[in-house]
Amino acid sequence: MPLDALNPLATVSTLPYELPDYTVVRDEHYRPAIEAGMAEQLAQLADLAANPEPATIANVIEAWESSGQLFTRALNAFYTKHPADTNDVLDAADEAIAPQLAAHGDAIYLDRRLYDRLAALAVRVEAGEVQLDPASAYWLERKLLAFERSGVNLPEEDQAKLRTMNHRIAELQSAFGREALAGMNAGAVLVTDAAQLDGLSLAEIDASMERATETGQDGWLIELENTSAQRPLDVLTNRPLRERIHHASVNRGLGGAHDTRAIIVELTRLRAERASLLGFANHAAYVAADACARTGKAVWDLLTRLAPAAVDNARDEAVDMERVWRRFEPEAPLAAWDWQFVSEQLRAERYALDASVLRPYLELERVLHEGVFAVANGLYGITFTERAELVGYNPEVRVFEVAEADGTPIGLFVADFYTRPGKQGGAWMNNLVDQNHLLGQLPVVSNNSNLVKPPAGQPTLMTWDDVITLFHEFGHALHGLLSDTRYRSQSGTETPRDFVEYPSQVNEMWALDEGILGRYAIHHETGEPMPAEWVATLRGSTLFQQGFKTTEYLAAALLDQVWHSTPLDELPTDPEQVEEFEKAALAKVGLDYDLVPPRYRSAYFRHIFEGGYDAGYYSYIWSEVLDADTAAFITSNSGLTRENGERYRRRLLAKGGSVDAMDSFRDYRGQDPDLRHLLTRRGLKV
Ligand SMILES: [Zn+2]
Repeated sequence: MPLDALNPLATVSTLPYELPDYTVVRDEHYRPAIEAGMAEQLAQLADLAANPEPATIANVIEAWESSGQLFTRALNAFYTKHPADTNDVLDAADEAIAPQLAAHGDAIYLDRRLYDRLAALAVRVEAGEVQLDPASAYWLERKLLAFERSGVNLPEEDQAKLRTMNHRIAELQSAFGREALAGMNAGAVLVTDAAQLDGLSLAEIDASMERATETGQDGWLIELENTSAQRPLDVLTNRPLRERIHHASVNRGLGGAHDTRAIIVELTRLRAERASLLGFANHAAYVAADACARTGKAVWDLLTRLAPAAVDNARDEAVDMERVWRRFEPEAPLAAWDWQFVSEQLRAERYALDASVLRPYLELERVLHEGVFAVANGLYGITFTERAELVGYNPEVRVFEVAEADGTPIGLFVADFYTRPGKQGGAWMNNLVDQNHLLGQLPVVSNNSNLVKPPAGQPTLMTWDDVITLFHEFGHALHGLLSDTRYRSQSGTETPRDFVEYPSQVNEMWALDEGILGRYAIHHETGEPMPAEWVATLRGSTLFQQGFKTTEYLAAALLDQVWHSTPLDELPTDPEQVEEFEKAALAKVGLDYDLVPPRYRSAYFRHIFEGGYDAGYYSYIWSEVLDADTAAFITSNSGLTRENGERYRRRLLAKGGSVDAMDSFRDYRGQDPDLRHLLTRRGLKV
């Protein structure tokens, strides 16, 4: 169906920087615009494939990059609005669009004619008939790989097999998600003796009583969280209750009503078979090929190099904790369910800093202008001017114009700080318009967070975590704003998953920079700077319990790799073998440390079995290796200077996904990342 010309998304917005005119876009406008956009793009790509002329950059790469403008415009507008400001109409649109988007991707990447057209260009390049600049060459290489990874090259019979596998894998993934969620809910621990709740706040006790009542039970219901560690274990003084909660957590999915083991067995075997059908050694190799890591071996090498240092440190921490633990239980040895409790006692002794005393020093406007924006100005010379006349998708949204030191426009930064009904939790960055020279578009990017809005006229006072989050998300925003690429699909944050968190993590380093902290951490009433000993405490606390944190993370990341790199004939065939397999996997790399279970055990590891981070849970630490190395490099080169900023901007941020991400890193840094900086940052001995 052709799109109604009155739909405001049908045409390019005439507002500055093509900011969508949310004052006229209604909830009903998104879905038809996105659907029409998909149809339009398929028609444009069909023309591209059918072009009888010899393949060139213009009629292949540029034609592709110019296709789907309506689709991109409508989808970006929707994906910015929906998570931040939803309602029933938008939720329904999202549900309707999701399967269509998957089908749209399949329609493109399983289209043999399109693939052949790209391959024809590659042949001409090979023959010296067409010269490609580096970004175009990289574009072509990546696109061909995307087609090949989808199975476009396979004989028809194998393609049919692949489709059946993909279908079954998708089913198993959603079944895992369902069961893991149900298992988490069913694992909630009922307490019938109020005395056992000692340590919880009154509000937490009330909430747990409400949850018990809601489920028709008498007493107090302590719900489980996703991870092995459970927050109530930080504070509960009753040891038997801690033990019960711990067991409920780590034994989820291993039998009973929500047993996930059969799903794991079938899913990991299917992923292994699919990888081999597509010509990869295993699923981990398939995933790594599309990432910075490139090979499963590179991932394995990184994780196994870190593992011994992490466990050694966790063991040292345990010695420290035993000392405190003896005050509570002179007889019983420290157990996994005591770790968090003792750790909190230690934290209180060494790093006591109440959020309520910090907050008055962390006022939003000051943190934003004298912290986040000041850093960007110091590094890149760029400026931020609030444009009150530009409005977003909600009255709380604020729009800032970003410009170069000489006033040349860069783009818009859209900020949406407050929590409200209809906004999803957490914090994130979005693109409204992706920078690219081909279509002459400047970037419009947004940041969302969930700060609690103060009463009218009151300042917004933040926690330390909120401050770190603000710097983090703004690091993503800078990646989008300072992008300098010809193609939209290579713009800004369009980088592999194990790279994309790197610029945002690097930007976090400035929160604790002495000069910057001195500018933004000022008491909002008295104008006093934050006391130096508190700053020292904040700094010191970043090293606290890194042995534990690194060990639990690495154990999960390695489990993920083992499940996805073990040859088919060595993978479990029977659900009863799952625990044994997990145990052997952890033992093999020395991460079988009873006091520190993996952050997720296999049976409730949704990141990897519900999908999304399968064979990719390592990404966080891969990015952090780059981040720690860069932070050390900048710090040892005078810190916040325009020179440091320029180098990072031109060689790294600006490149987006137009070159191999590790190549841009090496170009920026002049060498490979040095793992020692991560170890130092986490206080881990080598
Ligand atoms: Zn991030």
